Amino acid sequence: MRIIPRSTGDFLFKKTGKTMAVMLAIAMACQVSACGGAKISEGLADEPGHGKWVDSDVKGTVKAEDEIRLQDDFAAAVNQKTIVSLELKDDEDWSATEGASDLMQSRFREALKDESLTGANAKVLRTFENLVLNWDERNKLGIEPMRKYIDDIQSISSIDELTEYQASLERNPFNFGLIMPGNVQAQDIHSDKSTLVLKVARYSLGERDNYLDYTDKTLELKESNDGTVAYLLESLGYDEKSIKETLKGCYAIEKFLATNECMSLYNRSEVLDQVQTDRVGLEGYAGGYPLLEILDGRGFSKVDSFNVDYKLLGKLSSIYDQNHLQDLKSFFTVQMLQLGYPTLDKGTIEKVLEIGRAKSEKDDGEYEEKSDDLVFYTMAKDYGFLPALADLYLEKYYPDDTKINEIRDFIDGLKDSYRTMIYEEEWLSDETKASAVEKLNNMLVNVVRPSNNADYSSVTVKSYAEGGTILDAAADAARLLCAHKAERASDPAMDRNFWDIFDGNFATTEVNCFYSPQLNSFYIMAGWVAVGDAIYGDSITKEEFMGCVGIVASHEISHGFDGNGSHYDLYGRRYDDDGNETDWMSNEDRSRLDEKVDQLGNYFSLARPIPGQRQVEGGRVQNEATADMAGIKAILYMARDIDGFDYDGFFRGFAAFMCEQRQEKTELGDIENDNHPLAFHRVNISLQQFDEFVNTYDIKPGDGMYLEPDKRINVW
Ligand SMILES: [Zn+2]
Repeated sequence: MRIIPRSTGDFLFKKTGKTMAVMLAIAMACQVSACGGAKISEGLADEPGHGKWVDSDVKGTVKAEDEIRLQDDFAAAVNQKTIVSLELKDDEDWSATEGASDLMQSRFREALKDESLTGANAKVLRTFENLVLNWDERNKLGIEPMRKYIDDIQSISSIDELTEYQASLERNPFNFGLIMPGNVQAQDIHSDKSTLVLKVARYSLGERDNYLDYTDKTLELKESNDGTVAYLLESLGYDEKSIKETLKGCYAIEKFLATNECMSLYNRSEVLDQVQTDRVGLEGYAGGYPLLEILDGRGFSKVDSFNVDYKLLGKLSSIYDQNHLQDLKSFFTVQMLQLGYPTLDKGTIEKVLEIGRAKSEKDDGEYEEKSDDLVFYTMAKDYGFLPALADLYLEKYYPDDTKINEIRDFIDGLKDSYRTMIYEEEWLSDETKASAVEKLNNMLVNVVRPSNNADYSSVTVKSYAEGGTILDAAADAARLLCAHKAERASDPAMDRNFWDIFDGNFATTEVNCFYSPQLNSFYIMAGWVAVGDAIYGDSITKEEFMGCVGIVASHEISHGFDGNGSHYDLYGRRYDDDGNETDWMSNEDRSRLDEKVDQLGNYFSLARPIPGQRQVEGGRVQNEATADMAGIKAILYMARDIDGFDYDGFFRGFAAFMCEQRQEKTELGDIENDNHPLAFHRVNISLQQFDEFVNTYDIKPGDGMYLEPDKRINVW
């Protein structure tokens, strides 16, 4: 999946439920192959780098005065200048992709300043920007913007009115409820048909497990949540008794949901026959709970395909009555407080942070001031304006498709390379080759521009002078997003060619590039292209682009054909209409693939990146390492047909893109847990396998980067 995992947080981590499941599947597969532990086979090379490599990802390892030859430690030599020029605080980590995130954030605000952009989205976003960054006005309003939303929930006097409330986009724009509309996605077996996922409400203590198993962490979260809710309600004028009752009621409902939720426990036939259902089925499960009334009120009356935790749904009617009304209102109240407080004044936000810190052992005592660029971007993202921002960004930075078409041509070239690579593999049977190529041909390539536009002309964003607030603007954006979702879910067909600009899991503004096995589709986001811009600026060459942006694309394509990807067919289906697995790789081919991947893992297992610390567990990183090498190989195949290809620029581009600086403890944590190799290994171990690299730098026996030809391992 994602190529860069670590210090960059989880922003390269796809958050859709489906993709998460695959990530887990990959993690599990890796665990299985890691069971053998750090195997050391005889006949393999000695430690990678022959003692001439340092872990250049770790801060303080590479110094300005070090004389490092490219031939000995390529990653350290190429990145030395960058590394020594970084001025990082002790606890600060850095990576080249973080530079791209910063660049994107500053570009969003550049776009707002560009007066030649005059459309509705620009207008709405400019007003929203002022709402967010005008702290004087925010501070003047204090907690007041929240009041009417909380008052409305508190005014509900009957269970029927609570139903009306949930059903109303006007009163309940933020989709609060027990089970509410989530994503629109393809059905499990019928990938050409859509379904609306009905999701359980967000828990105030985060994960469901926190309600089932009381640990220190749960207690810490609870104290923090209690403190936050109490502070906010007190500011709104609530007394101690009603604050206590609100918390108690909220936890009672959440505990009920957590105890009865069982989506992860269903077997396959239940998933197909019960979880996946239609309106009639939904009404049957719901019993007395008015789910359809709520959905219809929110615009979902034409939807006839749902994915629902049907056993939980069946139990909701037992708490949905007048006796539980107060608890239910408390539950909605806490949902609103948690969603809304970040839109309030600085005093409130800092107070809530302080409460969280006081309850957390990890308190470092410092409140870090965020840049305006980051604050604006985060608020736009969290409060429904990201699609508009994506639209505006594309208008400014991609006025036509020239650049997009260049990238498309590059990807088409990559697909040609993969076709050649597949046909050339001696260890693959003809049948497997044919299926792999068929899948490759049907792989969709999505570059930068989604299929639709985001039109925010119907969204009302009032300025402070007009009596507007961030929360009101967010409410109206949420109504637009809900209406769009209802329209999508009403279409029974799922077109995997359609890339929805409103789908937050596929936001082109993210610094991300990934392959989705369930769609057999590959995505390069606009944010990803900015990685090259962040490192090289406008003067980036074709080869440098291939080295930093292109290698990841190439790496991702290979995931369609690896141990996991081969379980999904050319339409992204894991099961056919009869429920049979669509796996297209024969058992013999699969075991030959595993054998080669294991060999590569064994080589990684010889490495001890930080002297005196633990060895790498090759079994865990071997699948991602395989994808790295396949990615490089495919580009080198393309390079054969490019006159005067600048190999040096390409290899340096890869090293520059992989450059990162982190604390030793972060690095050690990754050696233990991450299923991607360390960044400097991804550079050095991958590149030393290729003749083109060895020849470009005249690498000879005795050099750190040298690996005897018979010890090189290329899976593909
Ligand atoms: Zn990967």
